Amino acid sequence: MLYRVTIDYEICRGCGDCVKACSMSVLELIDDTPYPTDLESCHGCEDCVKSCEFGAIKVEYVGKKK
Ligand code: SF4
Ligand code: SF4
Repeated sequence: MLYRVTIDYEICRGCGDCVKACSMSVLELIDDTPYPTDLESCHGCEDCVKSCEFGAIKVEYVGKKK
């Protein structure tokens, strides 16, 4: 399955909570900015979404892997 992780960098404070919350290491904090560097591993649990107190992160299901 394939998910899209979108981070609103206008809202994001770079706290890194979403990076720590992701058990699949999908997200990486580079210079205080989180990036979804391993989207293939995302299983859509939304732990990152729940961890962000600013509501800056969104996860959408975008279809099955080919
Ligand atoms: S938890 Fe939210 S504010 Fe913190 S780094 Fe992640 S997206 Fe940004
Ligand atoms: S939805 Fe789950 S697996 Fe995907 S980036 Fe967020 S915490 Fe990680």
